[in-house]
Amino acid sequence: MISFSSVVHPTSTSQPPTPTTTTFFLPHHHHHLSFSSTPDHHHQQSHCLLRHRLQIRAMDATQPFDYESNPHNRSTQSPKLKIAIIGFGNFGQFLAKTFIRQGHTVYAHSRSNRLSIAQTLGAAYFSDPHDLCERHPDVILFCTSIISTESVLKSLPLQRLRRNTLFVDVLSVKEFPKNVFLEGLPSHFDILCTHPMFGPESGKNSWNNLPFVFDKVRIGNEESRIRRVENFLDIFSKEGCRMVEMSCAEHDKYAAGSQFITHTMGRLLEKLELESTPINTKGYETSLNLVENTAGDSFDLYYGLFMYNKNAMEQLERLDLAFESLKKELFGHLHELLRKQLFGKSEEGGGGVSVRRRVLAKLPKNGSPPPLLPPGAPQSETA
Ligand code: NAP
Repeated sequence: MISFSSVVHPTSTSQPPTPTTTTFFLPHHHHHLSFSSTPDHHHQQSHCLLRHRLQIRAMDATQPFDYESNPHNRSTQSPKLKIAIIGFGNFGQFLAKTFIRQGHTVYAHSRSNRLSIAQTLGAAYFSDPHDLCERHPDVILFCTSIISTESVLKSLPLQRLRRNTLFVDVLSVKEFPKNVFLEGLPSHFDILCTHPMFGPESGKNSWNNLPFVFDKVRIGNEESRIRRVENFLDIFSKEGCRMVEMSCAEHDKYAAGSQFITHTMGRLLEKLELESTPINTKGYETSLNLVENTAGDSFDLYYGLFMYNKNAMEQLERLDLAFESLKKELFGHLHELLRKQLFGKSEEGGGGVSVRRRVLAKLPKNGSPPPLLPPGAPQSETA
């Protein structure tokens, strides 16, 4: 901002001069220069052109070359943030609604043109990431699909951002974006990895009590930077989220056993094309709800959960084993019944099928290696 102050001397010498100030805002700059000018009345009286003597009165920047620090500090201290959402799809739009309702400024950028939806929600849309970065957002929030995150980060003009901008992601896997950020961002940017453990369907009515996982991967020591992170996290705690601080690695371990399994079951049930019946049980309603909850998510999201969480493959194998095991248990039971009918009591006490049924009932604990059956027990084909 440049401010010009013009001091107009009255004709009577007893009256003090009247100052007038003109202020100019230079977008994207934070220079605070102030000029004063005094009109020359001798020239004025003789109808000469009014000439203003300009002189520098004040410079409200604290230090030479530090002219960005004041406005910047003000913006990072304010609980209201300028949040740039990169990837304005399903989840990005969902989050934007709450950010805007809480009074934050939202800028959006996406691969596709999302201008009209952004306008409807009250966000400013930038099809060119250069224009967005020149707005100097406090937070760059990645809501891109897991699989596109790395290439999108590479396409951003980081040099246009303010030094120490806070980078946040909401990807459903955590070690992957953490590594992408650590490798792709200069060390002067802050990094916060998060995962709101809910989506547009499960969080449509309220976020109260829904888990929000976060890991402060790299945050500078300055108070303003620490406060900026707190301001961002406050958005979720204000909505009643259950804030869970844990490492990205821990998150991925838990999420593979819970979230990936849930999405897989939802997609499996969806393939069965379940329909509501006039006699739905509570359990069946739960299955229908699971399908509804996961069907809205893109396949990219599900694929990302599988590809970018190293624990997912083990869970998929366990699921396979569990299904096989269950089938064997059922068929084993049937087999036992048939044998009893065929051979009567002559086989009783011989072990055989009943032993197999018992050992097939349980899978090894999460993380423990196969085999499925203990040594010496009759092995199944899958074990
Ligand atoms: P998504 O399919 O995972 O991501 C869609 C977003 O990624 C869109 O903005 C899309 O851009 C962008 N995108 C996809 N491919 C791209 C490419 N090649 N280049 C540039 N951008 C690309 O669906 P989502 O549900 O919106 O999820 C977004 C992120 O939030 C994901 O990382 C997901 O894991 C995470 N998350 C989602 C949920 C949820 O419930 N949905 C919950 C928690 C976290 P366009 O806008 O141009 O299509």
